[in-house]
Amino acid sequence: MLTFCQLFLEVDFPDHCVLGLMFMKCHFCDEKAVVEFGLENNKPLCKNHFVELFEKHVFYTFDKYHFLDSVKKISVATSGGKDSVSVLYLTKKYVEVNSLDLELEALIIDEGIVGYRNKTLDDLKRICQENSINLKIISFKQEFGVSLDEVVRIMNKKRNEKVIACSFCGTFRRYLLNKYSRDADVIITGHNLDDEVQSIVMNFFKSNVDLLPRLGIINGVLTDEFFTPRVKPFYFCKEKEIFAYSILKGFGLNYTECPYAKDAYRENVRSFINDLELDDKNIKYKIAHSFLKILPDLKQVYKDDLTENSIKRCNICNEPSSTEVCRTCSLMKEIKS
Ligand code: SF4
Repeated sequence: MLTFCQLFLEVDFPDHCVLGLMFMKCHFCDEKAVVEFGLENNKPLCKNHFVELFEKHVFYTFDKYHFLDSVKKISVATSGGKDSVSVLYLTKKYVEVNSLDLELEALIIDEGIVGYRNKTLDDLKRICQENSINLKIISFKQEFGVSLDEVVRIMNKKRNEKVIACSFCGTFRRYLLNKYSRDADVIITGHNLDDEVQSIVMNFFKSNVDLLPRLGIINGVLTDEFFTPRVKPFYFCKEKEIFAYSILKGFGLNYTECPYAKDAYRENVRSFINDLELDDKNIKYKIAHSFLKILPDLKQVYKDDLTENSIKRCNICNEPSSTEVCRTCSLMKEIKS
């Protein structure tokens, strides 16, 4: 059955995006409302006003946190999904609107997940071509000699249990992203409010409080030449708002989910927070804002972990690492042994 949003927009909205806006008018004009948007008091908005406000909201984050001050080259970490395609498109638009003289490149890490990454990669290639954006593709297979699907098969057998693909994927992706965006002054990611809140809560639940200072609107180890700072223009945007934006802009994406996502711990945390949101629709903002208030103190407490003194070079690959051998090389050793 078609949802109300589908009727308004003639697009496929998943059930979680039904916002009960039937017969509601846009807060700013007489057009039909299609999406609710806004901090605190969510307002029903028509397509045009939603797109306009969403873009203003993101550009405000660029301005407020000076993401592109003194930047000569931007690397946008992309996956071909709604978040990264939207952030790529909006970064290009921000650069053009402000007549900034800088280079912009999209970077995708192809893990080798059959039925998923090949589809999002096709979407991304098309978007980059349509918007004249240079695309750099780095694959697990080319870099490590194995795809993620192969890693999972090998490790299931070796450990005699079902391994969590994300724990390998996350480590390898971070490693490659860092390695192949070193010529950029900043990495822009599509991390949204939902992602950030999940990471905050997960780190508390797993007692990984020492990892919390690495989160925030601008993260990365800012003092080391081997690390490029990462910034998150969607830090204050909910996932469903980005989804609506990508649909309303007509990006024509596949909206495919990674087949391994359902096995990740993050998925449980995601449902838990979404359940809480049913009773308090500002809960995600509240968690993120509370976290931002304590972040400077957390950075102070863990400052030794965030400076160049704590960073060594891996004995095997010479990439930055907090241990003699980095996690990527240790995992690769286990996979290939
Ligand atoms: Fe990798 Fe997990 Fe994300 Fe899939 S869900 S792309 S396996 S980190």
